[in-house]
Amino acid sequence: SWGSLSDKNVYDWSSEEEEPDGRARPIQVLLVKDDHTFELDEAALSRILLAEEVRDREVVAISVAGAFRKGKSFLMDFMLRYMYNHASEDWLGEADEPLTGFSWRGGSERETTGIQIWSEVFLVDKPDGRKVAVLLMDTQGTFDSQSTLRDSATVFALSTMISSMQVYNISQNVQEDDLQHLQLFTEYGRLAMEETFLKPFQSMIFLVRDWSFPYEFTYGQEGGMKFLEKRLKISENQHEELQNVRKHIHSCFTNISCFLMPHPGLKVATNPHFDGRIKEIDGEFINNLKVLVPWLLSPRNIDVKEINGSKITCRGLLEYFKAYIKIYQG
Ligand code: GDP
Ligand code: MG
Repeated sequence: SWGSLSDKNVYDWSSEEEEPDGRARPIQVLLVKDDHTFELDEAALSRILLAEEVRDREVVAISVAGAFRKGKSFLMDFMLRYMYNHASEDWLGEADEPLTGFSWRGGSERETTGIQIWSEVFLVDKPDGRKVAVLLMDTQGTFDSQSTLRDSATVFALSTMISSMQVYNISQNVQEDDLQHLQLFTEYGRLAMEETFLKPFQSMIFLVRDWSFPYEFTYGQEGGMKFLEKRLKISENQHEELQNVRKHIHSCFTNISCFLMPHPGLKVATNPHFDGRIKEIDGEFINNLKVLVPWLLSPRNIDVKEINGSKITCRGLLEYFKAYIKIYQG
């Protein structure tokens, strides 16, 4: 049985960000400002991570990272639906139910580089009987200029250091510059961390959206793994730079996997009035969503955040967050 905090008013919403109806929502906890400085909303982060029910629980921190307008919020809203429906068989809901959550403010969302956290932390019972706290993060960056690339790399580094699973959301394929970006931001992360014989980060999942070569590599995780193996393969006749990117990525993560998602259909991609109802989404996308979301979030699959081999609680995560950000504020 799953417990969530949705029906209890556990947070002391005392700031001006408070929603009049007290509903959970995304909270911008890290913001990169126009002058490229970082701002951590420590008060908001503390309210979320130090809530009485969760602060001493071990934490599972799941981040979805990538550029804007690539369907991250859309996916995260389905992840929320899974969490709110307690991983039940019919978690996907009704065919004409509009999608809400990270995107519920739709058009007014400013394209800011930074990290948003869902204000509600979910309590989940693992099959071994442990109750863990699950935190969902949305990490976004822009890669359109040298300066924004640096900002994005730092934000990605931070979210990778803070999360137990980083979902790298990319469009259509795994391009060489996607790998270079990954190398850049894991390098930023590694510099900030203590030297250890352990790999610095936990799970990295390449989530390829709008995959259009299912006849070469099938949709899903198996096709994804075969595809990624080929893409990350190191060979003698490769340019040294290409070899180094690949070695670096292998050396950073304990687990690396990949999932190939089909295109969701034209209504999702182009209709401005589309509100997320399932009946307007391509069946193939829905079928894969039914595999992807439980694969990422089911109680048996989620992993507690570890730093230097120790499991971290929500309270501990807050301390690391504060310590890491200081390094970048230098
Ligand atoms: P975010 O900025 O990465 O959070 O992107 P959004 O989730 O806000 O989605 C941006 C646009 O892409 C919206 O119009 C979505 O309906 C659409 N979209 C969502 N998922 C997909 C997808 O898998 N493929 C395509 N082509 N469009 C998508
Ligand atoms: Mg978004």
